[in-house]
Amino acid sequence: MVPDSALTPNSGEEPPGLYLHIPFCKSRCAYCSFNSFACQSPPAAYLAALSSQIRYWAGQPWCQKRTFTTLFIGGGTPTIYAGSELAALVRLCLESFNFVVEPEITVEANPNTVTVQALTSLRRAGVNRLSLGVQAFSDRLLAGLGRSHTLAEAEAAIRAARQAGFTNLNLDLMFGLPGQSAADWQESLTQALTQAPEHLACYELTIEEGTPFARMVDKGEITLPGEEESLSMAETTHDLLAQAGLKRYEISNYAVPGRQCQHNLNYWRNGAYLGLGAGAVSCLSGCRFSSVSKPEVFTELAQKGKSPLIEAECLPLAARFRESVVMGLRLLDGVSFIRLQQQFALTPPEYYGKILEDLLQQGLVEVSKNRLRLTKTGLPVANQVLSQLV
Ligand code: SF4
Repeated sequence: MVPDSALTPNSGEEPPGLYLHIPFCKSRCAYCSFNSFACQSPPAAYLAALSSQIRYWAGQPWCQKRTFTTLFIGGGTPTIYAGSELAALVRLCLESFNFVVEPEITVEANPNTVTVQALTSLRRAGVNRLSLGVQAFSDRLLAGLGRSHTLAEAEAAIRAARQAGFTNLNLDLMFGLPGQSAADWQESLTQALTQAPEHLACYELTIEEGTPFARMVDKGEITLPGEEESLSMAETTHDLLAQAGLKRYEISNYAVPGRQCQHNLNYWRNGAYLGLGAGAVSCLSGCRFSSVSKPEVFTELAQKGKSPLIEAECLPLAARFRESVVMGLRLLDGVSFIRLQQQFALTPPEYYGKILEDLLQQGLVEVSKNRLRLTKTGLPVANQVLSQLV
């Protein structure tokens, strides 16, 4: 490996994305480890605090010198707020920051929190991508996950999205669920495809520490599908979605041509982003910082005109290089040597040496057209491969 001190910073930074976090949900799902809090009626004061942060950051030189390409409002459940409130937030961002002419603007939503009217307000404000947390096309599996919505509500939400004019719709689905067979998963995918989404995110359930699911697994109250069954579910995913014209472009993400999520592509390319809201993380030119996670503390600090930031670190260049490689390998296209060269004046073979040679020899990664990527053999064991390059 090249010693860290030998690295020199370079330019080549892509335009950033803007993320807003809404940390409220109607109830908590049994597997959730996100920064979200159950509440029926979300506080208006939080939106006021978030708006004050938007105004503050829009005036900072780092932001003023940049043109943002994407806006993503995620959660939690952003659509727990009224369509008009979210639309006002979107407008404020568009007025306050420099954006490209047609930025990708995504709002995450859960099925029982949307109406045609609310979604139409979002469309009018410029939101052009909706990401719906459907998770499963089965009431039995949804109830098992502790989701607050039914299958009928998910289908109604998809209809509402189309009626409101959304032509870029993502559905989030999960596999490897307790009590889910390979046939159940195939059924979920088939039903999802009948809705002709432009994008599908298919994540395998991971049991996170401290969640109700973790306790239930420990007590033997739920059993997850075995490794072979999960692998077969993953294979079914690629096969069925490829037949339907949804191309896999990231380990868990599939899109029809031209509909890849630009905001997330920026994360995977280790680009810069500004994250605002409780628990949101930002990464500006390699410096990372995060805000307090409790919404009431975030709100109080913002009301007092104090900074809600709690942690900041500027990553050494070598760590940024490794991060760029590891994140980039999540993409099916892999990571570009040219881009790495521009940013770090270094390529993976030069940095990793024997570690990379071994992975190449084992057929887990490959180099082609100046890019490093996971092979078909490497993709199913991506986590093990990436852990060697962190
Ligand atoms: S809807 Fe999403 S963020 Fe909210 S509790 Fe469920 S998994 Fe967590």
